[in-house]
Amino acid sequence: SSGELVVRLAGVAHHYGGVRALEGVDVDLHAGAVLGIVGANGAGKSTLGRILHGSLRPSDGTRTEPGKPSISLVPEGRALFKTLSVRENLEVAAYAAGVRGSELRRRLTETTALLPERVRTRMEISAGSLSGGEQQLVAIARALIAEPEVLILDEPALGLSPVMVQEVYGQIEALAARGITTVLLDQSLNRALQSCSEVLVLRQGAVVARGSAAEPGFEARAEEAYFGDE
Ligand code: ATP
Repeated sequence: SSGELVVRLAGVAHHYGGVRALEGVDVDLHAGAVLGIVGANGAGKSTLGRILHGSLRPSDGTRTEPGKPSISLVPEGRALFKTLSVRENLEVAAYAAGVRGSELRRRLTETTALLPERVRTRMEISAGSLSGGEQQLVAIARALIAEPEVLILDEPALGLSPVMVQEVYGQIEALAARGITTVLLDQSLNRALQSCSEVLVLRQGAVVARGSAAEPGFEARAEEAYFGDE
């Protein structure tokens, strides 16, 4: 992609005690990109997502952010406050981002507008009483309160019905189309190929394929790299 470089990882490795989660990973994230990072359970996606986010320091290698972007992460499992209302979940995130007063009201109005009507009309009910897909949309809205330039989503399809997966990915694609630099961590290569401009395949902590979803032959190459000789 042609946008400016926002985050660069070079030679990144990560270990949890004796467990190697990542090894020799290079990533260039450019403004406006929609980057899919795919791999099986335990391939290292969440670890890489947190290192890109900046909330986890790699054991080795470097992370630089020439664009000094603000980055929001929607964690796996969403991590909403289930007993707080939908509105309170958004307000807590705004407070954490240092947003107050009329600016807070403006951002609440703007992010709430992105939610489907059946959520928008139920802002005062507890977040935990929404469906899994609705909660995922609220978690995305909450991440957007900080008005990030980069949005990282960790397995947003996890536990959702196929219909809700469609709705959540529709939302992600709409945000990407508005120019938010997007990183999608996903177990499904097919979903990433559909939603992303670039895809990187992780296997046992190493990048085993990368390319553009539009590149002829990439899908077959990525599939082979993903599944290996399993
Ligand atoms: P999943 O889809 O299951 O979340 P993932 O691709 O996101 O997997 P990671 O969660 O990054 O992969 O995990 C990569 C490796 O690091 C795995 O072997 C995992 O067991 C290990 N790991 C992750 N977090 C920790 C931790 N806090 N302590 C020890 N090992 C960990």
